[in-house]
Amino acid sequence: MSMFEDIPVEVGVIYEGERIRRKNMQLELGGPKQEHKFELAKVKKMDEVEDGKITIIGPDIKDLKEGSSNPLGILVEVAGEKLETDLEGVVERRIHEYSNFIEGFMHLNQRYDIWLRLDKKSYQKGLNSFQEIGKVLQRLFKSGLPIIEKIQITFFTDPEKIKEHWKGALQSYEARDAKARGLKDAEVDKFYGCTLCQSFAPTHVCVITPQRYSNCGSISWFDGRASARIDPKGPIFEIEKGDVIDAEKGEFSGVNNTVKQKSLGEVTRVRLYTTFGYPHTSCGCFEGVAFYIPEVDGFGLVHRGFQGETVNGLPFSTIADSTAGGRQVDGFHGISIEYMRSPKFLKADGGWNRVVWLPATVKERVKEFVPKEVVDKVATENEAKTIGELKAFLEERSHPIVETWKKPAAVEKALPTIAEVEAPIEMPAGMPVATVPSLPITTGGYKIIMKNAKIYANKIIIRPIKGEKAGGKEE
Ligand code: SF4
Repeated sequence: MSMFEDIPVEVGVIYEGERIRRKNMQLELGGPKQEHKFELAKVKKMDEVEDGKITIIGPDIKDLKEGSSNPLGILVEVAGEKLETDLEGVVERRIHEYSNFIEGFMHLNQRYDIWLRLDKKSYQKGLNSFQEIGKVLQRLFKSGLPIIEKIQITFFTDPEKIKEHWKGALQSYEARDAKARGLKDAEVDKFYGCTLCQSFAPTHVCVITPQRYSNCGSISWFDGRASARIDPKGPIFEIEKGDVIDAEKGEFSGVNNTVKQKSLGEVTRVRLYTTFGYPHTSCGCFEGVAFYIPEVDGFGLVHRGFQGETVNGLPFSTIADSTAGGRQVDGFHGISIEYMRSPKFLKADGGWNRVVWLPATVKERVKEFVPKEVVDKVATENEAKTIGELKAFLEERSHPIVETWKKPAAVEKALPTIAEVEAPIEMPAGMPVATVPSLPITTGGYKIIMKNAKIYANKIIIRPIKGEKAGGKEE
């Protein structure tokens, strides 16, 4: 008899990676419309957990309106003789994996960013209660991690209760992250890898080091070590660091070998501390993205929860699309918030001296880790909404990047004036004039995104714009 005979839908790895569109959803839980949502795992004493218990605080799925968006909190409490609190992060991340095994149930992101959807077809088959979802999770947890002897799960849909537990959850995440700070990449001979996101991004391999937290922000080097110890054949594994190929950029022979093997030869080199030239791959559940802004030769940062447009006119979703899917895209880099606190953060690209813009909420969260001499020189949406405003702000505050703008002065002088451009520069027939990984175009109320676009033109005309500096662009 199957372990899931009494569950109204199928359960299995084949359902991982399943996407549920809004028009097909019975309901949504968490996600961008909900301010308060969380999932949290806690290791408890044996007598504090009632094995098999499932509690629902607030309305159950069948009591929620079709097509509605609802807040959600998931608390997974586990106990076992050999379980240590070190494993809380690992247990918590498995909520994502195991939820996605359920037919017609989609789980995205992690921690305070969770976003779930239930498909109408699965609901009609009878998946209409958190009791069923809880049972599946409990069985998968116990078979996947036999170290768990007892497990109880609480689902919260009552907004007030969620808010109450959400604060405690944030404190737990911070305590976990703080523990991993201080250890240096140079002090260890092993890193850890994770391929949990390959169901959505088949060539993605996270390389988790003490100073480069996982993209999703939920697995630290300590979590990786704990997971690889208890489940060495699982999705989180040990990586022998090997020889240092480039200390500044963070390239190691052992990392290259493992990533090549785990990505089935798709990714052969990874440099951990840069966004250019073999950057770390980006999956789809990264907490934020670092994006290059050529007009100022600096980086913007944006997190998943940021509503509206960033300083370059694009929202998080478009910027995320430019790099997601397990690709290495120069200048676009999926990252965690915790990595922004690391001394190795974009180290080879200039670190915080190269960051020019980020949302105010993220700045507030990481500001004590930004060098004092730079922190007030980095703009947020409150100081700069356009590239023009950003340039003015950076100049006014003497951001370190402004110094570097002076260098291309020779190039500026060499640019011809309009009068000097007698004939347009022509490209040979059949040659693309531009190749871009993702090109968003907004027209007639629709957004069209071209992937891996090659642009051909009969003629390309290059003209300097009056009053504009080389490398700059007025808004
Ligand atoms: S982002 Fe990385 S560490 Fe996090 S689940 Fe995905 S592959 Fe694993």
